[in-house]
Amino acid sequence: MIMCRQCDKNPVYMLENGRKLCSSHFTAYFEKKVFSTIRKFNLLGKSGRIGVALSGGKDSITALYLLNRLAKRNPKMTITAILIDEGIKVTGEKTIKSAKRFCKKEEIGLNIYSFREEYGFALDEIIKKLKLKDKKVNPCTVCGILRRRLLNSKARELKFDKIATGHNLDDEVQSVIMNQLKKNVLATAKLGPVVGIINDRRFVQRIKPLYFCSEREVSIYARLKGFVDKKVVCKYRVYAFRKDVANMLDDFEKKHPGIKNNIISSFLEILPVLKKQYKGKRLETCKRCSEVSSKDICNVCRLVERIRG
Ligand code: SF4
Ligand SMILES: [Zn+2]
Ligand SMILES: [Zn+2]
Repeated sequence: MIMCRQCDKNPVYMLENGRKLCSSHFTAYFEKKVFSTIRKFNLLGKSGRIGVALSGGKDSITALYLLNRLAKRNPKMTITAILIDEGIKVTGEKTIKSAKRFCKKEEIGLNIYSFREEYGFALDEIIKKLKLKDKKVNPCTVCGILRRRLLNSKARELKFDKIATGHNLDDEVQSVIMNQLKKNVLATAKLGPVVGIINDRRFVQRIKPLYFCSEREVSIYARLKGFVDKKVVCKYRVYAFRKDVANMLDDFEKKHPGIKNNIISSFLEILPVLKKQYKGKRLETCKRCSEVSSKDICNVCRLVERIRG
């Protein structure tokens, strides 16, 4: 077996250039990648209240752990976790347990909000209700609309300056391709290490410190650090368009190593042009909830009306 290039120990990971790394050199490589992404895109600034959107999965726990390490060295920065309990029986409950355990161990404040409290129903109930009206309901679309809104409004209440999420390179590549396949250029313009296009005081800026780390790299790091015992996959993921795109990209990456990195590199070259193009787009204020919206009634209010109706 070829050993770690730097110390001759057993390797846990092979880089694209064939270089192998042992656990301690892989850890150093991974952390360097995250910290240099934070510096390069000035994701954190020098001070502030940073909220980390925690699901209890490997990605968000990794992001929380590394940001908390940085905050320990900076008295002007605070890190707090925020968790949205969608109300997904079994799989959701398991990840929430991991999140609570992790925050307790690391002594990080955790704020939990639930769909049931905020919207009146858990996601499981919402999906059942909507399926009675329309068999083709996509649980992830519903979940995403409601979760993003709740995350933003609660982050605003908690006076966070930014919300960090655990999105990794694979998530971003999938989003870029999904938006192309669905002809949604506006959604593509909102992507990147710093999310969004317009500056509006109602939006809390979202950042992605794991932007250049592949899913596999995050899995290895989280395993080496003992963050999660077992991978828990949401029971609704089988319905997701994202899953089909992810499988396609994984097959393609196997045949043509490096394509995911290439997609992100070329995407980042065109992203400033896209953001500039959509920056001037006028947004409305939802007549019901006063949140930013592209229509007079926002998607959340429309969805809640359908659920309650
Ligand atoms: S897989 Fe879909 S339904 Fe499950 S948590 Fe993610 S977005 Fe929500
Ligand atoms: Zn080594
Ligand atoms: Zn609204």
